[in-house]
Amino acid sequence: MSDITVFQAKTILTMDPTMPSATHVAVRDGRILAIGDATCADQWGAVTQDSSLCDAVLMPGFVEGHAHMMAGAIWEFAYTGYHDRIDPEGRLWTGLSSLEDVVARLSEIEATLTPGAPLIGWGFDPIFLRDERLSRAHLDRVSTERPIAILFSNFHLMCVNSAALDLVGYSEATNVEGVVKGRDGAPTGELQEMAAMFPIMRRLGIDFRALSQKQSAIRSYAQVATRAGVTTVTDLFSQLEDEDLDVMFSVTGETDFPLRIVPALAASGDPATLATRALGLKAKSTNKVRLGAVKLMTDGSIQGWTARVKWPGYVGGQPNGIWNMAPEQIYATCAALHAAGVQMHIHVNGDEASEVVIDALAAAMRQASWPDHGHVLQHGQMMDGAQFQRCADLGISVNLFANHLWYFGDQHVALTIGRDRANRMDAVRSALDAGLTVGIHSDAPVTPLGPLFTAWCAVNRQTMTGKVLGASQRISVPEALYAITMGAAKTLKLDGEIGSISVGKRADFAILGSNPLEVDPTTLKDIPVLGTVFGGRATLV
Ligand SMILES: [Zn+2]
Repeated sequence: MSDITVFQAKTILTMDPTMPSATHVAVRDGRILAIGDATCADQWGAVTQDSSLCDAVLMPGFVEGHAHMMAGAIWEFAYTGYHDRIDPEGRLWTGLSSLEDVVARLSEIEATLTPGAPLIGWGFDPIFLRDERLSRAHLDRVSTERPIAILFSNFHLMCVNSAALDLVGYSEATNVEGVVKGRDGAPTGELQEMAAMFPIMRRLGIDFRALSQKQSAIRSYAQVATRAGVTTVTDLFSQLEDEDLDVMFSVTGETDFPLRIVPALAASGDPATLATRALGLKAKSTNKVRLGAVKLMTDGSIQGWTARVKWPGYVGGQPNGIWNMAPEQIYATCAALHAAGVQMHIHVNGDEASEVVIDALAAAMRQASWPDHGHVLQHGQMMDGAQFQRCADLGISVNLFANHLWYFGDQHVALTIGRDRANRMDAVRSALDAGLTVGIHSDAPVTPLGPLFTAWCAVNRQTMTGKVLGASQRISVPEALYAITMGAAKTLKLDGEIGSISVGKRADFAILGSNPLEVDPTTLKDIPVLGTVFGGRATLV
């Protein structure tokens, strides 16, 4: 057998303007050797023709620029969300549209558990079930003996039953911020943010780091990615301790592991120490694990009213959100990391947060010159034309949260920022018009990983109730396909290696059932993903 394989496809969309489409791609040593027709690699010697994908459409493997490793392992917990979701094995879990349904599903699962084991759920989102608030009374109907904890979809809140409250001694007498109490003075079961949640998490063994760093977690993340046609994925807030890295290198090092992972180190503590640590990590990168970038978490989430927004604030008069990192710390961290040559991915949801971060990066750039820094504002949900223009002037990229339009668009109109500002949320059109490098993302597991769905959101801007949110911000299908391949690859500074089907790049492809350029744009999300080719090796789902 020759060491050159020529894959035949129905069509190959390359995302490379020098040859936008082809029928054959030749692969040697995991890289793209030639592209064109059946004879494309004849100059290179004997070839093996592979026609197993001849009815499929190939694209560059999709790149998910903002997701989290626990998107796979979170399925060890019971899904209690409002939307239909598909687990890593491909099983459909229907969404739960009432608290009764939540109690019913939990009761069903409770009956299957061994005595004493806690019942843990995830994905619950109170913004969709506003008649009544989930409380310990609901969960006590599932069990009064077994501790139960339901994580909300934003991972910043949870609700627990009485047995779980007893386990950590939360009562009327408790005085811990975030332990919500009812009119009777007793805890309702709802716990907000880490100080209140952590004691329960420790007792019940809920550990986000462990959820992300076990061998099985990394493998199920790869399953989730392959199902979505993704060959390069991020883990955008990672502790990256030495033992975590050992596990990651060993699992990803297996020949048939079909995913490149780009973890970003979670920013905390002294900026100079952080910079040194990031540079040390960068030196340990492999082909499948790309280290060296840092993730900063600035404000909260818009649908949780914890994002920092500019005047006129939230339409319901809620107080402005919270800083997870104080502005002075943002300034100091941006200055130190930029000066040290460390790329930053910076979480900004509200427009006050994006403004502060652009100011901080501009200040950092006045201190130290680094033209190809590649810093990225992540989410950037409320950014307007003026902020995009400043990003263009400063060489900053954006990765916009297009999935939000469908998942939370109606809620933003009705409950958070109102129709006018919701119309310019995740303004991909404005960002492209300003000349920016633009990615679009899912933030999985917050919303499901699926770049074709994300592209559909940016193209159609349709909400869950079928309304169009800000028609002027829609983009074309080719622009959306670019954003989920080359655009995202650029935000990771990997566009020289992945993102298009070009000679010399890695042979990473998404295998699709039909051609995204030929389907009705309103059905982009329905195109079947058949699997991926990773480094020249096909994995079908
Ligand atoms: Zn995220």
